[in-house]
This record gives sequence, structure tokens and C-alpha cells, in this order.
Amino acid sequence: MSDLNIYVLGAGIVGLTTALELKRDLRNASITVIADDFYENTTSYVAAGIFRPTSGDFGKSEEITRKWIIDSFSYWELLRLSSESSEAGVKEISGYIFSSEHPHIVRNKYLEKLVPVYRKATEEEMGLCLGDWKYGSYFSTILTDTAKYLKWAEKKIHMSNVPIRHEKIRAFSEISGECDVIVNCTGLGSKFLCNDSSLTAIRGQVSKVEAPWIKHFFYGDYDTYIIPGFDNVTLGGCRQYESYDKKFSQYDYLSMRERCEKMLPSLRDAKLIGHRVGLRPHRIPVRVEMEEKIANGRKLKIVHNYGHGGYGVTTCPGTSINAVQLVRRALTEKSKL
Ligand SMILES: Cc1cc2nc3c(=O)[nH]c(=O)nc-3n(C[C@H](O)[C@H](O)[C@H](O)COP(=O)(O)OP(=O)(O)OC[C@H]3O[C@@H](n4cnc5c(N)ncnc54)[C@H](O)[C@@H]3O)c2cc1C
Repeated sequence: MSDLNIYVLGAGIVGLTTALELKRDLRNASITVIADDFYENTTSYVAAGIFRPTSGDFGKSEEITRKWIIDSFSYWELLRLSSESSEAGVKEISGYIFSSEHPHIVRNKYLEKLVPVYRKATEEEMGLCLGDWKYGSYFSTILTDTAKYLKWAEKKIHMSNVPIRHEKIRAFSEISGECDVIVNCTGLGSKFLCNDSSLTAIRGQVSKVEAPWIKHFFYGDYDTYIIPGFDNVTLGGCRQYESYDKKFSQYDYLSMRERCEKMLPSLRDAKLIGHRVGLRPHRIPVRVEMEEKIANGRKLKIVHNYGHGGYGVTTCPGTSINAVQLVRRALTEKSKL
């Protein structure tokens, strides 16, 4: 099995998690990670990091979506309960989601069946933050500080002797040498690499503030959220469809700060630490499938794992486990396993 050569493209949360899962499942395979951006230059670094899937299906079916979510939750829960949880930046968190307009916003068909607590907020709880709330839920879930997780995952990858190459790939055929499978985890980069017109950016911006008195997360209407993390509190947010602008916007900052302070006036005293901007790689369905290509007379097997949109932290372990199964299938077909 040591003559297996697998290349993982991408060093965001999807690429690094996939590389770790490959190493766990195919111990003797030779794995190489290739990426042109790392750590703070990835979308993954920007994520608020809460485990909260959308209620809609983002896999090819409800069954696939549910499997990804269940596998992901188990992955994060195991890491949370391990001795590495604080280094990996994974912890439990609880809080509220409120809406003044729509009852469906405070429900979640996936989370309600998965997390330890998901219930209607009480009358008293509906008054915990300001707003004309008509609907509310309380739930507990998992929070991943992606800055910590990316560092932890990279360290693990180095420790397993998996080389990480800093390189931009313009076509899959550029990968030279023996290559049994390429696992494509390039997020928004796949728009160009795969010429995928169904992949688009949803721009997001968050701010980090010092507010150690905030112990629960709060979601309100219009993409407003307050999420306490390990070292600071994340204030958000915005979702700008088809915007590719990675520059900080003062307008977005003032708007979200005003919305957050309206919900929790104590945030007026919160010192600003900084801002993060990222482009969510949005695609329905998230692409987890195998493709065979002939490029420059060479047959390439590519397993795609990209398009996680605003839910990459929530779902990447599940899609990565699925991608590893596809890699195994590709290798079996080649009688390499
Ligand atoms: C403001 C904001 C808040 C968010 N909050 C949450 C949240 O609370 N919960 C949640 O689940 N998700 C959240 N997300 C979504 C999450 O961040 C993304 O789904 C996730 O980061 C996508 O990860 P990725 O690895 O696919 O992409 P990226 O992190 O962008 O990584 C892509 C990698 O591919 C590499 N690459 C691309 N093209 C090439 C190429 N041609 N050659 C070589 N390398 C290439 C890049 O260099 C990079 O290393 C949020 C996103 C934003 C913007």
C-alpha cells in the first residue's frame, strides 16, 4: 500500500480535515497537501465557527445531508471530549436564536434531533436581549475556533510526515509524478480550477471584540449574531451574494455593530480587536463526487470536496469522511487496495 500517492489540494478547514482523515484511514499512503493560501488568508480563518447547519438540504438528498451532519457532529464531539480540545479550539456553547418575524428561523430539523438540548425559549428568556421577539429557541452546540483548529490540524499533519507544498495549481494536470488520486478541497478556487459556474461567493464580514461578560450566543433577525469564543466575542454579520470583495467595509462594520448593540446594549463597552472578511464558497449541492479526466494523455482521478458555503466548519468532517470513501473506491478500482 505504500505506493499510493494522494494529493490534497487546499489548506482550509476542508483540505486539512480531509488530509487528516485520509492519513487515519490509509495509514501507509503517501499524502501531499498543496495550497496557495494558508491560515489567516483562508476563508476558514474568518468563520465564526459555530456548529449550526442550515435547515435546508445541501447534499444531493436529505439522507446524504443528514449523514454528513451526524458524522461531523461525532467528529467535533470526540475532539471536544479529548485532551486536545483546547489546543484544537473546540468547546461546547449554548445560547439563543430569536426572530420577530418568522417561526421557521428558530427551528432546525437537523439540530433538533442531534444536540443535547434544543427547546423553545421561555417568556423570561425572550427578554434576555432587546427586540420585539415573537419566536425563540435555546440550544447547545459546538464551537470551533478555526484559528486554533487550523494550527492544530497543520501540526498533526506535519507530525504524520505529510508534506505541505506552497503552490498555486492552475490545472489538475500540473500535478506531476505518480498520482493515484487528487482530492480537490479548494473551496472557491474550484470556480476557476473546475470552471464551475454553480459555485459562487457569498461575502461575509465579522468583528472581534473584548466582552468577557458574554457567556451565551445570540442570533437575531437580519444575520445578526453575537458569539463568545475562547479569547474574544465575534459580532456579525452579513451575506452578500456574488460579492468578491475581500476588503474591510466600514459601512458593514457600523451596521452590524449597531444591530448587535441594539440586542445587547452592554456591547457598547466592548473594545474592538479587529475585523475579518471572507468569501463563503456557496454551491448547492456541496460537491462530493469522483470525476475521471483525461489531461495531456494522462488519466486523472479527482475526488471533489468543495462548496461548503456558510457551513464548512459544521459539515467538513462529514464530507471529508465521504470523500475518503470515494478515494478508497477509486483505489480499489485500480486494484491498489
Ligand atoms: C464571515 C463568515 C462566517 C462564517 N461562519 C461560519 C460558522 O459559524 N460555521 C460554519 O460552519 N461555517 C462558517 N463559515 C463558512 C466557512 O468559513 C467555510 O464554509 C469554510 O471555511 C470553507 O472552507 P474551505 O476549506 O472549503 O475553503 P478555504 O478556507 O477558502 O480554503 C481553500 C483552500 O484552497 C486553496 N486553493 C484554492 N484554489 C487553489 C489553487 N488553484 N491552487 C492551490 N490551492 C488553492 C486555498 O489557498 C486554501 O488553502 C463562515 C464564513 C464566513 C465568511
